[in-house]
Amino acid sequence: ARIPLMAGNWKMNLDHLEAIKLVNELNLDLEDHRHDFSAVEVAVIPPFTDIRSVQTTIDGDDMKIKYGAQDVSTHDNGAYTGEVSTAMLTKLGCSYVVVGHSERREYHQETDAVVNEKARKVLTAGMTPIICCGENLEVRKAGKHVEHVLAQIEADFDGIPTPDAAKCVVAYEPIWAIGTGETATPENAEEVCGAIREKIAALYGPEVAEGMRILYGGSVKSSNVAELMAEPNVDGGLVGGASLKAEEFGKICRLG
Ligand code: 13P
Repeated sequence: ARIPLMAGNWKMNLDHLEAIKLVNELNLDLEDHRHDFSAVEVAVIPPFTDIRSVQTTIDGDDMKIKYGAQDVSTHDNGAYTGEVSTAMLTKLGCSYVVVGHSERREYHQETDAVVNEKARKVLTAGMTPIICCGENLEVRKAGKHVEHVLAQIEADFDGIPTPDAAKCVVAYEPIWAIGTGETATPENAEEVCGAIREKIAALYGPEVAEGMRILYGGSVKSSNVAELMAEPNVDGGLVGGASLKAEEFGKICRLG
């Protein structure tokens, strides 16, 4: 069975001191509730500048919060001002790297080809990419959301071999539901997450598809997480705003 993953994407929020505070509070909250990490995996995805602090806060703790980065360079090293490499992230103990978030696609013109390249880099470095996909409101209104997302999936996984694909996490994040408070209905989420799993089965076979974790993202909160998680093809959440408060995110990790 797939172990659900609740990943908190902090986006451009919290400096490193605030990061230490939040991780400590989250640790305490999960500890208080005797959180079973083998039942629901928990990860935080802070800004680059916080990762070292998050690492040292979590290190030496018997709690098992994982962490990762929101983006990564397609280059290994060299004259790429402002970029951060996969090697730097593995050195910091990152487990996950989010690739192809809609905010990267929109504000930094990341194409599926770039997302594909980043996912491969992350896999080569031994980390797990969380590959994001999702349609905007216009595509949704035109009823083309499933075909749009499946085209993204096909392009994002292009040339990734089966053993690597089996390690990936996918996050379906409809753009119209991000930060808007307008959550997709469980049926909306299930329709697309189920279609993604079928596409993965077509590309890589049923075993890879059955094992792959497909998350939903977009206004996930403690009050709606349970109904989303009740859907058979929703294996967790990529949580933005609601991951910035320990108590609320802790509740989400307990599925409400
Ligand atoms: P919100 O949970 O704030 O809607 O953000 C979702 C998201 O984009 C997570 O990556």
